[in-house]
Amino acid sequence: MIDLGILKGSSFVVLGLARSGLATGRALKAAGIDTICWDDNAASREAAAAAGLNVADPAGVDWSRITALVISPGIPSTFPKPHPVAAAARAAGKKIICDVELLARAQDKAKYVAITGTNGKSTTTALIGHILDEAGVRCEVGGNIGRGALDLAPLGADGVYVLELSSYQLELLETFHAHVAVWLNITPDHIDRHGDLSGYVAAKENIFARQQVRDCAVIGVDDQPSRAVYAKLIKRGIAAVPVKLETPVAGGISYRAGMLVDADGYTVGFADVPTLPGDHNAQNAACAWAACRWLGVPRERIVAGLETYPGLPHRQERVASVGTVVYVNDSKATNADATARALSSYHDIYWILGGQAKEGGVAPLAPWFDRIRHAFLIGEATELFAGQLEGKIAYSRCGDLKSALDAAHERAQHEAKGDAVVLLSPACASWDQWKSYEHRGDAFRAMARALPGAQVLGRAA
Ligand code: ADP
Repeated sequence: MIDLGILKGSSFVVLGLARSGLATGRALKAAGIDTICWDDNAASREAAAAAGLNVADPAGVDWSRITALVISPGIPSTFPKPHPVAAAARAAGKKIICDVELLARAQDKAKYVAITGTNGKSTTTALIGHILDEAGVRCEVGGNIGRGALDLAPLGADGVYVLELSSYQLELLETFHAHVAVWLNITPDHIDRHGDLSGYVAAKENIFARQQVRDCAVIGVDDQPSRAVYAKLIKRGIAAVPVKLETPVAGGISYRAGMLVDADGYTVGFADVPTLPGDHNAQNAACAWAACRWLGVPRERIVAGLETYPGLPHRQERVASVGTVVYVNDSKATNADATARALSSYHDIYWILGGQAKEGGVAPLAPWFDRIRHAFLIGEATELFAGQLEGKIAYSRCGDLKSALDAAHERAQHEAKGDAVVLLSPACASWDQWKSYEHRGDAFRAMARALPGAQVLGRAA
């Protein structure tokens, strides 16, 4: 837990008592700081009260004696409509911040690596953390990736905080300063919370706010909004390292599946690392490479880190094999864009898909249909997807995940010749049949590992 003693004399309202809010409440309480905690959800309030936090409705609070509102990033403070507590804080002229801001104030000697982008944040954050760990650099990994910022261990001057930051968190920072800021890519997302694409990009650009000339910005320049941001950084004199697919880029890193080329021509191949398949992971690896180089990690140590990266659950996670067939859990792929990354990474695919469909369904995935040997449909999206696949690829209606896995397993074992995969990459939300994508992925992992003759791959989780 982070010691927030330096905030003594301040007082806060903490709004939102899930993981990061609870950690914030606990850290403020441990430091003896006057705090009012609230959540609209009664169960969350009860959990906080049971943890000894001061839970009270901030509706009637005297904002003149409050220093700032610490809000959970998931709660709107602007679009589409500010939460009433956020509106009251703003009307009283109070700052609205998040837990990462408090971490930065309390741990002001440490170095910070911050990672953002529409896709690949968690992977790149975990990868940088893993490389630093392997290289013996003291680091703590947290933020949006799952550990609340104030639950991390204190590091002091010789440590590095590696933080995944969403656009929601980034717009709640005031003094936070990233020594290395990593920007992966931008595609339209979360527009409801930011008004429009330019609002979303502007929120994310906060990752570079307060960076100085001696700091480092790593930025993927394969999409137009990111190129515009890169041009602004160059104007500011920030040492920006561009990261680009295939073609070499001056002063930057180019990448393609399993390969990256540094600015001086140094080439790193990691095509044999099964946890980093595809161009998208090469982008993540290239960004991690640039960040770790700037931190002074020797090249051979970074290579060793890339080669031993264990991967994250639910993201093209290799969970089991039976014979030459590998079973891959990509339950995090809840839209066609994410599923496209998985389909582009394999050639002989027995594809399990379905759940609650997103707009457009699987029609955008047609460029990869020649890689699909058979599709196994589950959940609410079954009829929509059957219509979209009709006449293009062979499919079966399976109803639920267990039936789909059994059918895919049988077919793959019977007919697959080379390195086939049975891939759960649903292109759908999970809520029709599961509590969350994690719940769905955990079930798939357990079922795949229970298949006759299965060898467990990856970590035990
Ligand atoms: P995030 O934390 O930004 O949601 P993750 O690292 O959890 O990203 O990856 C989620 C999914 O996004 C992956 O399963 C993959 O389909 C896709 N993805 C990962 N990295 C990238 C990238 N660099 N570009 C595009 N898509 C990516």
